[in-house]
Amino acid sequence: MAVYKKDVQTKRFPLVERNSNHYQEIASSALSNSINHLNNAYSQKLSGAEGAVEFRDEGVYTYDNKGRRYLDCLGGYGIFNVGHRHPRVIEAVKMQLDQVCLHSQELINPWSAHLASQLAAITPGDLQYSFFCNSGSEAVEGAIKLARLYTGKTEIISTKNAYHGVSMGALSATGRDVFRKPFAPLLNGFSHVEFGNIEAMEAAINENTAAVILEPIQGEGGINVPSDGYLRKVRQLTEKHGILLILDEVQTGMGRTGRMFACEHESVVPDILCLAKALGGGVMPIGCFMASAKIWKVLEPNPTIHNSTFGGNPLACSAASACIEVLLDEHLPARAALMGNYFMRKLNELKERYPERIFDVRGKGLLIGLEFTSKDLREAVQVELFHRGVIVASTLNSNCTFRIEPPLIITESQINFMIDALESVLIDIGSGRLDEIQALAEAQELAASEPAAISVVSELTELTISIAQEPEAVIDEISAAKARLRRRVRAAARVSGSKATASRRVGEARLAPVRESRAKSDLSKKKVAKPNKTGKKKSAGKKDKPKSKAYRAKARD
Ligand code: PMP
Repeated sequence: MAVYKKDVQTKRFPLVERNSNHYQEIASSALSNSINHLNNAYSQKLSGAEGAVEFRDEGVYTYDNKGRRYLDCLGGYGIFNVGHRHPRVIEAVKMQLDQVCLHSQELINPWSAHLASQLAAITPGDLQYSFFCNSGSEAVEGAIKLARLYTGKTEIISTKNAYHGVSMGALSATGRDVFRKPFAPLLNGFSHVEFGNIEAMEAAINENTAAVILEPIQGEGGINVPSDGYLRKVRQLTEKHGILLILDEVQTGMGRTGRMFACEHESVVPDILCLAKALGGGVMPIGCFMASAKIWKVLEPNPTIHNSTFGGNPLACSAASACIEVLLDEHLPARAALMGNYFMRKLNELKERYPERIFDVRGKGLLIGLEFTSKDLREAVQVELFHRGVIVASTLNSNCTFRIEPPLIITESQINFMIDALESVLIDIGSGRLDEIQALAEAQELAASEPAAISVVSELTELTISIAQEPEAVIDEISAAKARLRRRVRAAARVSGSKATASRRVGEARLAPVRESRAKSDLSKKKVAKPNKTGKKKSAGKKDKPKSKAYRAKARD
C-alpha cells in the first residue's frame, strides 16, 4: 500500500500557470488550502472571504493580490518596527544566504556571537549574555527555567491579563483563562496578581518565589500602561525579597515604546530580559533571553542544559544585527516617541468628538490601544478600516480594544490618513450608513443563491445610492426595505433550508456601487439626523447617545 497520497499537489507555490486569472487563482487556492489544511476557521476571516491574499509588502504598506494597498497599523503584532522588508535587513540576509544559512552547531558561530555582543551593548545595566531561540514563547520558557535554576526555587508571580506565550511554561505565566483552562493542569507554582497593584504583588511573595515576570506595558492584555513608578516599585520589591525580575519585552522592546526597551522609561534593569518579534527586523524569526554574568554562571557547567537546534542560526542573527543597526542609525526609538505622541493626540481628539464610541486611548510611543465602547463596535470599525485600506486588529486578551502598532518609520501624513479613515468610519457608523451598506452586501451575497431576494437587492442598491444625495428622505424607506428583505430572506431560507443571514464577509466588488455613491457624497463630514415617523428630525439616534459608565463597563466585559 502506498504511504503517500498520489493525488495531492506537491508542486511548489504558486501552483497556477501565469495567465490573466493568475492572482484570482492564487487567492482561491490560498483560501481553500487554508480552510482545508490550516484551520477551517479561516472561512470566517474577512480577508479570506474577500479574496485578499497577502502578496507584497514594503515600508509601512502591505499589498494584496488585487494590488490594493493597506496601511499597516498592526505591524504583524509588533514585528515590523523597522518597516516591511527594510533594504538593509534584506541585504544582510541575502548576503548570509550565500555564505552560511544554518550553522553546523559544532564550530563557533560568529553571527550569534556578534549579535550577543550588540545586545549587551544596547541593553541596560549589566545584561551581558544571550541565549537565542526562535519565538517569544521560547524566550519566556527559557527565562522561567533560568530563574528556577539560578534561585533553586520554583514559584513565579505573574499578572492577570498578561500574555507571555502559549507553550506550557509560558502559558502558565499567561494570565487569561481562555488560553489556560483548556490545557490544564499547567505548571505548578504560578500565581497571577492584579497588574499595577504593588501590594498584591508583595502579598503573593513567599519563601519559594523564584521570580516575578512582567510586561512593562501589557500588550495583548489591551495595551495597559501602569502608573508611573510601578515598574520601579516592582524592582525595589524583588530586590528587597531577593527574587528575580524577568521583564518580557517581546512586544515592548526594540524601540516600540519610544526607548530601545520600555524598562528604560523607569531606569529599571531586569535580571532576565526576554526579546523576540521585532528583533528579527521583520524578516527572520528570532527570540532571546538575556541575563547578567552572575546569573549566567549556572548555565556554564553544562552549556547544553538548555538548547535549541535552530536558535542563533546565521540567517536570523544577521537579520537581527542589521535590525539593531537600523534602529540606531535611523533613531527609530526617538521617532516612535515623536510619532506616538502625534498619533495619541489625534486619537484623543477623535475621542473627544466621539465619546459615545471611543472609550479610551492609551499607550506609549507607537504601542497604542484604542478601546471602543463595545466589542461589536470595535469589530465593525476594524472591518470598515480594512475596506478603507488600514489594517488593525484586536489585542488577544481585550476584545473591545484594538492595537495600533505600525512600523516606527510611519510618517505624520500616513498617521493623518489613518485618522481620516477612522473618523469617516465613526461618522458612517453614527449615521447608520454602515447598516445600510451591510444590508446591501448581505442582500447581494444572498441574491447569488436566492433569486427571491434579487428584486429587494436592486431596490436597496438604488436606495443606498440615493442615501448619498438625500439621506434624510430615504432612511425610513431603507429601513422598510430592509425589513422586507429580512422577511423574504427568512421565507427563502425556510424553503431552501439555507442559512437566513449572510455573514458579514462582504466582497469588494459587491460593495463597489456603494463606494461610488460615497465618493459622490458630501456627507462624509457631517452627522445624519434621522427623520422620525412624523417627519421631524431627531438630533441624535439611539446609537449616538452617550452611553453610561455602567453600560460601557458591561459592554467591555
Ligand atoms: N510575550 C509577549 C509580551 C507577547 O506579546 C507575545 C506574543 N504576542 C509572546 C510573549 C509570545 O511570542 P510568540 O508568539 O513569538 O511565541
